Amino acid sequence: MTQLSDDCFAFGGALLTVDAALAQIEQRVVPVVETEMAPLEAARGRILARDVVATMNLPPHANSAVDGYAIAHADLMPDRETALPVSGRAAAGHPLGRPVERGEAIRIFTGAPMPEGTDTVMMQEDCIVEKERVRLKPGIRKGANRRHAGEDVAEGTIALAAGRRLRAPDLGLAAALGHRELPVFRALRVALLSTGDEVREPGTALPSGAIYDANRFMLAALLSGLGCEVSDFGIRPDREAALTDTLAAASAEHDLIVTSGGVSTGEEDYVKSAAERLGSLYFWRLAIKPGRPVALGQVGGIPLIGLPGNPVAVIVTFVVLARPLILRLAGAATSAPRLFRARAGFVYRKKPGRREYVRASLQRDGDTVVAVRYPRDGAGILSSIVQSDGLAILYEDMGDLAAGAMIDFLPFAEVIG
Ligand code: AMP
Ligand code: MG
Repeated sequence: MTQLSDDCFAFGGALLTVDAALAQIEQRVVPVVETEMAPLEAARGRILARDVVATMNLPPHANSAVDGYAIAHADLMPDRETALPVSGRAAAGHPLGRPVERGEAIRIFTGAPMPEGTDTVMMQEDCIVEKERVRLKPGIRKGANRRHAGEDVAEGTIALAAGRRLRAPDLGLAAALGHRELPVFRALRVALLSTGDEVREPGTALPSGAIYDANRFMLAALLSGLGCEVSDFGIRPDREAALTDTLAAASAEHDLIVTSGGVSTGEEDYVKSAAERLGSLYFWRLAIKPGRPVALGQVGGIPLIGLPGNPVAVIVTFVVLARPLILRLAGAATSAPRLFRARAGFVYRKKPGRREYVRASLQRDGDTVVAVRYPRDGAGILSSIVQSDGLAILYEDMGDLAAGAMIDFLPFAEVIG
């Protein structure tokens, strides 16, 4: 089971900054160490546990990048056309099978091994073909249209570094190097639940005053997108005993518990007290908007992250805190998303001292990218996330934002699938 390295700290008083929260996550969360072999078909989103060192050159043999004629560059006349006899044929999967003499041209196709004795390929579009001969224009560079053995990955070098989250191209590269399976850290087992007396299962009747559970479905998708195996603990009522029972059950056989709702300071918010009863709570008030109440704790030795109830705050706090936590726990080498610069297409009244994430879409304006703020910004407006491209980040030290200022932008494409 995964462990938090130390549970002897607790949240003091003032609001915690995002960076301080991330530093605590970095410090406290101990990654899984168990590894397994994953067939390539099942390896997407998993974290590579060991370097993949190429045991062969890629490509394995020098080959032609185009359809045309393979020749020895030295046979070409530098200042006028050269006519050479076409004396053989090499296609992909069908090497010529003999060395080439000086003065020969070989009909060659993309991917065919370069015949020994040739070094350059003239594209067929640049050749004039006569009966048994081909006429080649002057001026081609030696080595043109030839791919070297090992030019993609040289034998003995690291093709994929440990700690990578495997994406489709990684799997392609591993396959190209002959791998059928890859060593990965075992998938995190994540227990997921929603809280709230008002929260109901979609597909069932909705009593007056109730709402459907949006968060659990969002979070399940976000978690499986990060390679986690999700156990669904459903919707728990706002009763401390019910939550305590569920959290205790969830802390067995899992690496992480993710909850939403019930972490504010209201009378009906029991996630914190249940977690405190079973384990300990590290922090729960962040200097962040939206999403101030977030709990990180441990229950039975496994981390618990208690996200807010409002769906927008769920997305923001998942992206900002839960995702780095999960990636670190899962053995990923890096967890910080790349940020991009954009021009603010809006003014914003910003309180210094906290970090704000503003939902925005990107538009092109000549050579610059402009972040256009979504007009409605309530923490309950889930369609604002659906309609936005990402989050403009207004840092703690920033005050009011003037239109046209350059800002950091976190595209959802970087962090949520
Ligand atoms: P809470 O943090 O429990 O006070 O919830 C804050 C807001 O989020 C309330 O309006 C809740 O009704 C709403 N909420 C809580 N859980 C969910 C959920 N699973 N899906 C959609 N909305 C929720
Ligand atoms: Mg609630």
